[in-house]
Amino acid sequence: MTHRRDLCRSSWCDIYQSRISKNLELACDMLPSRSKFCAVLKADAYGHGIKQVVPLVTARGITCIGITSNAEARAVREAGFTGDLIRLRAATLAEMGSAASDHVQEQIGSLDAARHYRSLLDGGHDLERAHLALDAEGMSRDGLDLSTDAGKAACMEILALLDGHVTGICTHFSSNEPAHLQQNSAVFQHQVGWVLDNSDLQRSDLIVHAGSSLTLVSDVPIETDMYRCGAIIYGILKPELGFVPTMELKAHVVGLGAYPQGATVGYDRANHLDRDSQLACISIGYANGFYRHAHNRSAVIIKGQVVPVLGKMSMNTIVADVTKISGVQVGDVVTVFGGTGTSVIEKAQAEAQFGTIMADLYSDWGLRNHRVYR
Ligand SMILES: *Cc1c(COP(=O)(O)O)cnc(C)c1O
Repeated sequence: MTHRRDLCRSSWCDIYQSRISKNLELACDMLPSRSKFCAVLKADAYGHGIKQVVPLVTARGITCIGITSNAEARAVREAGFTGDLIRLRAATLAEMGSAASDHVQEQIGSLDAARHYRSLLDGGHDLERAHLALDAEGMSRDGLDLSTDAGKAACMEILALLDGHVTGICTHFSSNEPAHLQQNSAVFQHQVGWVLDNSDLQRSDLIVHAGSSLTLVSDVPIETDMYRCGAIIYGILKPELGFVPTMELKAHVVGLGAYPQGATVGYDRANHLDRDSQLACISIGYANGFYRHAHNRSAVIIKGQVVPVLGKMSMNTIVADVTKISGVQVGDVVTVFGGTGTSVIEKAQAEAQFGTIMADLYSDWGLRNHRVYR
């Protein structure tokens, strides 16, 4: 189904809500029996649009969502979500204060953060209870390192400042390679044990959580009350288990031309035609996420056929060689990512040609292009 106005778009993301629902179902089925699922919707739901994804999460009965910015928290609440909303990074004092009305649960992994939290409480803010964030030989990002005496002392001070306001203890694994994962997880559990032994926190009152999509699909059994998953919702892992990509990137053929053997193509005359060629100009370029990095290693699909992209990319256009396809017309749809059957540009190819991971591509494409919900 193509809406009339889609015909006038340069490039766009087709977003398949039914695939998101299906992926959510498959992911929840993979959970160990006592673990919860936190749907990670940061980066505007990895480029898919928070507003449109929240109802799918709610419909699955999922009661926890992870975000990073206050704007995302607001969007989740505006979409009607009333469950637990966790910020998956450290926050500034100003962020914490203004997210209070959206009932965001903050991650506290430093004395500064704990002092900010305490000052807001003392100032009369009605803050949600917080999660103590530990590093556990992990990211060295925003978790507290408990391996040193200074770290342990800071932890005691943080717990005193948070007095009565801890709802969880969390960490974020830096690697899901099985040996690392096992090691990280064991360190985390050990550190959680230390916190429990040295405070009046009760294990049964807390949610102790670690692990993301790759952890869930890793086959390494780890102890966690909740997996926090983004990537898996958007179908970029484990196709063999039925997960399907939820976004396709498309554009139109906007011009066709015959150019002679020997002609140069694109900026810097970087490519030459080795035969007389029929070239299609396509309405997408590096400003829309068809990065210059893909020079000499990318392809698109036109009329069900995979054709090479030639020359260095322009800001809003690329050029494909359509000499071998007959019947190409201005207005034809071009698939940059997605497709079906044998004519498909899939994850491995997209990641290779653009030099990054799908989560990066999705979140970028979703911001740089119109989104059309299918
Ligand atoms: C992004 C993020 C996740 C989700 O990661 P995926 O690999 O997309 O599943 C989980 N936890 C934290 C702290 C994160 O920042």
